[in-house]
Amino acid sequence: MNPRFQEHFYTHKTDQKFHRIQETQMGSLQEQRLKKVVLVPFPFQGHITPMLQLGSLLHSKGFSVVISHTQFNAPDIADHPDFVLLPLPDDVGGLDMSFDNMLNVISAMNTNCEAPFRDHMVQMLQKEEVGCVIHDSIMKFADEVANDLRIPSIVLGTSNASYSDSLCAMLELLDKKLLPLPESQLQESVPNAHPLRYKDLALSASSEIPDIVIDFTRSYIDKKAASAFIWNTVDMLEHQSLQKLQHHYNVPFFTVGPLHKMAPPSRTSLIKEETACLAWLDNQAPRSVIYVSLGSLATIEEEELIDMAWGLANSDQPFLWVIRPSLVNGSEWIKCLPEDFVEKTRERGCIVQWAPQKEVLSHPGIGGFLTHCGWNSTLESICEGVPMICRPCFADQLVDSRYLTHVWRVGLELEKNSGRLGIENAVRTILTSKEGEEMKVRASGMKQEMERCVLKGGSSYNSLCELVEYISTLPRKI
Ligand code: UDP
Repeated sequence: MNPRFQEHFYTHKTDQKFHRIQETQMGSLQEQRLKKVVLVPFPFQGHITPMLQLGSLLHSKGFSVVISHTQFNAPDIADHPDFVLLPLPDDVGGLDMSFDNMLNVISAMNTNCEAPFRDHMVQMLQKEEVGCVIHDSIMKFADEVANDLRIPSIVLGTSNASYSDSLCAMLELLDKKLLPLPESQLQESVPNAHPLRYKDLALSASSEIPDIVIDFTRSYIDKKAASAFIWNTVDMLEHQSLQKLQHHYNVPFFTVGPLHKMAPPSRTSLIKEETACLAWLDNQAPRSVIYVSLGSLATIEEEELIDMAWGLANSDQPFLWVIRPSLVNGSEWIKCLPEDFVEKTRERGCIVQWAPQKEVLSHPGIGGFLTHCGWNSTLESICEGVPMICRPCFADQLVDSRYLTHVWRVGLELEKNSGRLGIENAVRTILTSKEGEEMKVRASGMKQEMERCVLKGGSSYNSLCELVEYISTLPRKI
């Protein structure tokens, strides 16, 4: 990592009573009393990571940070000595935690965590002031409790802003009874949602959407009680969507991403990382390896796994492939990989269950990333200047993919049913063609722009200064 990237954010003096919080944009130093902020993450990898990073960032600026977390996927205190961890009994032990059952999981967490969270907050308020509650958009109960107790409540957007904007567009179409559409129209542009096509929307535009899904989407978008939003994004990436959303919510927005570059480094992985793959990468030629990972939640059918295997094998390029134990529906880890594939790729393939992704992406051996386009993966890849092959699976991934391929032009679209030949061609294109080289040049340019946003005077740096000021001076609600 470029050390210049973070130098302005790490230095702070810790004192029991007072903290030197920030160098203001005017250049003077402010002494301020430490304030407590309570963070409530949604306990899945792609959500918990940015919340913990935000916690580290706020702690580095002098705030006292409490993480109020579910017992499920609880953070390890050994990894976060700077935080106070406050567990919430969630009673979700018997639930299926797969993406397919996510609405039930979300509903159970919101129901079960509300009372214990309220108790914690009431007790906390009896002893000291709480500056604000910062919660994942999905943890609605935290917002309700904060409002009842008149504590300012701030939403952390862990997905990109364009995804929320696309959901607003989708709800508008549903309200106007303009959906569903015939399959043949899915390639057409969505009105007021450039650059999205109907097929890029998170909810199917060509079939009836169940009421429970529409209700969830409405409640996800309805954040009228929020005092402000923090986004793990960069203004230059999503300026228009941010403007539209800010107009919609009419509260302050703070774009302080990419959080993994803004915050002091910390361990946020819920799964043990197999670091041996870094040594394997050390032995590969510069920019020669395709890194393949579909994140922490997405699943694929066995047939697609086999296609991926043969696509990688036939591309003749080295690969580092993350096959999570739960990646393939109904199969045990890599048992379903064909033996002749394993034999053919032994010399140039490395397969792991979970990789140290940020280190992998910043390794000089990596030339491309076949990704599901989760927002964290997207930001991590952009920040390292790595071009992508986009194979989105659900939700915000579809929107991210469209931006990567058609706006930022650092990604190649891979249709779901491209088969092994499609994968083989995409890998070759990214790693060995002129088109891939041009994408790499654009990706390197984006990397530099992201670095500028984080440095002093950059948009994220400035937004963080404003956020620190905002939280420090937030009054209790009346
Ligand atoms: N990740 C990782 N190792 C892996 C795969 C993923 O550390 O082998 C991390 C990745 O760096 C990212 C997060 O897991 O920070 C995945 O978040 P993302 O938003 O990309 O996708 P999700 O898992 O939420 O679908």
